[in-house]
Amino acid sequence: MATIKRILVTGGAGFLGSHMCERLVADGHDVICLDNFFTSQKSNVVHLLGAPNFELIRHDITLPIFLEVDEVYHMACPAAPGHYQFNPIKTIKTSVVGSINMLGLAKRCGARILLASTSEVYGDPEVHPQTEDYRGNVNPIGPRACYDEGKRAAETLFMDYHRMNKVDIRIIRIFNTFGPRMHPYDGRVVSNFIRQALTGNDITLFGDGQQTRSFCYRDDLVEGVFRMMNCEDNFIGPVNIGNPGEFTIRELAELVIELTGAKVKLIHKPLPADDPTRRKPDISLAKAKLNWQPTITLREGLKSTIDWFKSIDLSHYRPPTP
Ligand code: NAD
Ligand code: UDP
Repeated sequence: MATIKRILVTGGAGFLGSHMCERLVADGHDVICLDNFFTSQKSNVVHLLGAPNFELIRHDITLPIFLEVDEVYHMACPAAPGHYQFNPIKTIKTSVVGSINMLGLAKRCGARILLASTSEVYGDPEVHPQTEDYRGNVNPIGPRACYDEGKRAAETLFMDYHRMNKVDIRIIRIFNTFGPRMHPYDGRVVSNFIRQALTGNDITLFGDGQQTRSFCYRDDLVEGVFRMMNCEDNFIGPVNIGNPGEFTIRELAELVIELTGAKVKLIHKPLPADDPTRRKPDISLAKAKLNWQPTITLREGLKSTIDWFKSIDLSHYRPPTP
């Protein structure tokens, strides 16, 4: 087996963080999961609590913490529009102050640190598909800015700690990812549509449903993140990690209805402000540098996600609290 590392996963109890922890624990590393449970719950990692190489810490990354680690997967940040707009000031603090705290920790320990950035840095893109050198079209004063600009500032901080303090960084830009352990009330399109279909409620299409997104299944995502952290090619990114298959939101709704067999209608709701019109990653860089590309289709991923939604007790989940 490869060297055992001490690995910190911030946001480790969240949807993607919990899968990352699971992978790293299975690989035999000593994993510290750090989370304030703003948008997650202990049930996401409860199965790991008995493992001797897993530790759970309740902590808010806007406050400093002293830990000794070799690697940091920095994933703490509310990610769904409904979650990050709940307390926008806290969201941008999490990205900016939280990243400064984690970069300081990485600098002190000499740890490699990976930022889970986002396709939202491209805003409502004028370049399609989005390549990493595209600088984006973000509204800095809109309701999504706390997230988009927070992540853009986090990328800036990562690059400056790298240039100035030689911190060993990695930056990935994650495109819409879905799968088991998504928060069922996070308001994201996949969780909304599946929950609505399974509970017999009509499916809410925002706008005309012609806007597009590219959906990556969580297993593909975790593999891409892992490869980026372990890439020994002095490749720091940013690199897009996402599935280039592009679907309109209406197509997604129709697929969810087909796979659940639900007898529900599509209803229209207003399009939220600054909602990106289309989004699709160019993953040439990830293919070339990480030898990575997604392997799971939207249809396959949705089937597993629908099965998971059927298995959970919705009353166990609560909306976020400040
Ligand atoms: P999530 O909301 O399930 O996970 C985020 C986790 O961070 C939660 O457990 C939450 O409690 C924790 N957290 C939030 N603020 C914190 C704070 N101040 N201190 C400590 N913990 C805090 O979301 P996710 O989908 O798993 O996203 C994980 C990361 O990936 C985020 O950084 C997000 O921006 C990024 N990302 C996700 C997607 C996606 O489609 N899922 C897309 C782009 C980027
Ligand atoms: N959306 C929708 N109905 C919903 C939730 C979302 O039509 O119930 C749309 C939303 O307007 C956006 C797309 O689905 O165009 C993806 O939304 P999500 O919040 O999942 O992610 P993001 O906009 O951050 O990509």
